Amino acid sequence: MNKKPKLPIETLLEHLVKHKDAVIVLGPDILEDSNYFAISDVTYECYNRKMMIKKPNEFWKYYSDNIMTPLATTNKTTKEIHSLLSMNIHSTIIDTNIVKTIAPNFEVISPNGKNNVLQCVKCQKEYDAHSMFNQLQDQQTVLKCDCGGNIKPTVLYHGEKYSTPVYQSVKNAIFTEENGKPELNTHTLIFIGVDFTDSLISELIDSYDALKDYQHYTVIITDKKNRDDLIYYNPEFGVTDDLNQALKRLINLIKEKE
Ligand SMILES: [Zn+2]
Repeated sequence: MNKKPKLPIETLLEHLVKHKDAVIVLGPDILEDSNYFAISDVTYECYNRKMMIKKPNEFWKYYSDNIMTPLATTNKTTKEIHSLLSMNIHSTIIDTNIVKTIAPNFEVISPNGKNNVLQCVKCQKEYDAHSMFNQLQDQQTVLKCDCGGNIKPTVLYHGEKYSTPVYQSVKNAIFTEENGKPELNTHTLIFIGVDFTDSLISELIDSYDALKDYQHYTVIITDKKNRDDLIYYNPEFGVTDDLNQALKRLINLIKEKE
């Protein structure tokens, strides 16, 4: 792999402040010490579409006992992320976590769904799962919306495809397709604590890398244990440190710049 010349951090800061269109992608490492339920092949047995229809009682009990908690998490890293967001250098936030990490005043795209949000498959109406906890614990039949459609969790089952509108909004944050020719909508892609084995994440970074030129930067902020990602993807800017420390350094530098 070609080694790119090292750019000074000032270049990144000027770039962020000039374009104000960074796409910030958040991954599971930002949840650090919080205890949450990870969707995997192991959970598939109890958490899948067939169970929801055939054994709604078991399905919703499992959902409300396991997947639904915690509803949100805040820690040192999420605090630093909020400081970064309040600087208005971003256009889009993509949070791959099913647990809410970002305050409701920021618009967030959640490709893997949110553990507190249920949705009607027919009219797309959203329901707050937390307020339905008692009902879900004792739900005997398939959960129905007023429109007659089935209500399902937004948290994807293991192996389930991303919903088309969500997948499209992730792509729109990064590319526009004009006359079949893709163009980039963002000058900076910032990955914070993401899992690059996630298919959506690897697709994002690969297609961004394929289209970008010297005016587009990739930033990877990752835990020390994942430093191989930096070697593999060779971003213009990469930091391996405790996530909150790395973010704090970046934010302090931006503040000096403003
Ligand atoms: Zn409906």
